[in-house]
Amino acid sequence: MSDKILLLPDHIANQIAAGEVIQRPASAVKELMENAVDAGPTYIQLIVADAGKSLIQVIDNGAGMSETDARMSFERHATSKIQTIEDLFHIRTMGFRGEALASIAAVAQVELKTKREEDEAGTYIEIENSVVIKQEPVAMPGGTNISMKNLFFNVPARRSFLKSNAAEMRHIVDEFTRIALSFPQISFSLTANGQQLFYLDKGNLKQRILQLLGNNYNAKLVPVKEETDYMNIYGFAGKPETAKKTRGDQYFFVNNRFIKSPYLNHAVMNAYQEMIPRDSFPMYVLFIDLDPTQIDVNVHPTKQEIKFEDEKIIYAFLQAAVKHALAQFSITPTLDFDLDASIQQLPSIQQPFTKQKEEAAASTSIFKGFTQKNQAHFIEKGELKHWKDFFEENKGAKNRTTEQQKQEQKTRPPMDDTAFASRTSQLISGEISEPVQLLHTYIILSSANGFLLIHQQAAHERILYERLLDATKGKTVATQRSMFPVSVELSPADTVLLEELMPDLQQLGYMIEPFGKNTFVIQGTPADVIQGNEKKIIESLLEQYKHFSSDLKFSKREKLVRSLARQQSVKAGTSLTAREMKTIAEDLFHCSTPNSTPEGNPTFMEFKKDYLEKLFRPS
Ligand code: ADP
Ligand code: MG
Repeated sequence: MSDKILLLPDHIANQIAAGEVIQRPASAVKELMENAVDAGPTYIQLIVADAGKSLIQVIDNGAGMSETDARMSFERHATSKIQTIEDLFHIRTMGFRGEALASIAAVAQVELKTKREEDEAGTYIEIENSVVIKQEPVAMPGGTNISMKNLFFNVPARRSFLKSNAAEMRHIVDEFTRIALSFPQISFSLTANGQQLFYLDKGNLKQRILQLLGNNYNAKLVPVKEETDYMNIYGFAGKPETAKKTRGDQYFFVNNRFIKSPYLNHAVMNAYQEMIPRDSFPMYVLFIDLDPTQIDVNVHPTKQEIKFEDEKIIYAFLQAAVKHALAQFSITPTLDFDLDASIQQLPSIQQPFTKQKEEAAASTSIFKGFTQKNQAHFIEKGELKHWKDFFEENKGAKNRTTEQQKQEQKTRPPMDDTAFASRTSQLISGEISEPVQLLHTYIILSSANGFLLIHQQAAHERILYERLLDATKGKTVATQRSMFPVSVELSPADTVLLEELMPDLQQLGYMIEPFGKNTFVIQGTPADVIQGNEKKIIESLLEQYKHFSSDLKFSKREKLVRSLARQQSVKAGTSLTAREMKTIAEDLFHCSTPNSTPEGNPTFMEFKKDYLEKLFRPS
């Protein structure tokens, strides 16, 4: 028998490695933009075509590369940013793994032009499948101009995993937003298919936030700023009224790197406790700066998750900083800096401010408010809950409810799902009996064999879903022209989304017209949608859509229809007239799939006489 083990050729090894770093056009955007940022430019231009599938180009006026470095940069593990493993713990640059360019060159056709200020000529390199095809001198200004064409041209399986242009474009706008938010001193632009979507002049953080997330936030941002020896926190938190139903404008940056952290998010949410409705999410853009030795950014190939040396301190500081900021702006009436008792035992907490910092800080009103006994440096001992308990408790609660749900499913009266449609006519043969509403949520209706318990919102969602689906298949929906057309101003990202959805919305009875930059005029809405709230309707529609948009399996149209059905449905907790209840019941049983919501939850249950009998006479 011959031996079996082979070393993979470089280009295949690189393609495999690329799978971790480059999952979609947006990942390449992130890597190329981060490289540009690391080069210290004053501007960065991003150009994409076909949502990055055919072209991603990043131009910067940063340091540029020498001829040798230009060639070297495509080697795997080639980096100018670290030299020893020690350096890994002092990272101040965005990159350091030396994998991005090697990965990109393995899965796309790349053209690099780069020149250092001090060099006469720049270097042009063309590379494909990890192989250099061309290299020659080029005349150009100082900086780097890199184009990546036809992503995954040589890995068709990965190419077929890409989503629609609208979806991929949204990921790109997300990455662009994250990087542009963390470097307001650099000017950025984004051009897609020849159209400039963003031009961001350099400025301060607040200006950058408004440019990116929309002017709506103007006058609704509260500055957050706490400085200690251990860490600095700064940025902005939205006033409670900016809280939205879906997660959206929430950004953490640790040492300028965007990170996802449910744990830190929990700290901020706690700071807003009681100020915003449950299940709503406040806006925030918060920067945490601390000694790089206190974090490990190397835990994830895309570096979106990091490990903190001491998470608890950060949790406590963050929560206190946000609470304090909200209090400063007299948004929260009572102050309550409940912090974990164990935190104060930590050395970094017990260390006082340095004299110098103390003097500088003591003169500000923030300091005065914050150095009351409850600020992070001076926490009183007490029997406080450990932060983990909050999480665990929540998790426990969740598990319990799903357990309960399972239990409920088991005890649910037996229903035969097949041949349902034919049965529904039997269920409510003839006239619908006088319905009764229970808890402003359920409709009780007597049926041939017992009674039906209808969930009004679930049922209405099903009805609207089928109606809207019919509409997208050509049945036109009547539009009602608004007497007073209103205009809405959206963030640039939402503008991209709305433009994408416009043709479908038109078919569904919405008359929306572009009206200058990021502004739209709503001329009409579907006849059966109550008028007078058009602005809110569009805003919450976009929110709903984003809520569904992470779902791979649905088409754009399906998501839109689901969002609209969810949004327009009569909500649980709404009191209904007998007429309205009858209409819901009738419409429901005219649906082709009356028994479940589009998401598969039951819309009603039947309680049969036999079953009821058994409840009272268990044998
Ligand atoms: P990393 O960023 O992790 O070091 P990359 O593969 O992204 O690895 O890039 C490799 C090297 O190429 C970088 O370390 C840097 O020296 C150089 N480089 C890449 N892009 C640029 C750029 N836009 N300007 C200047 N140098 C760059
Ligand atoms: Mg890099």
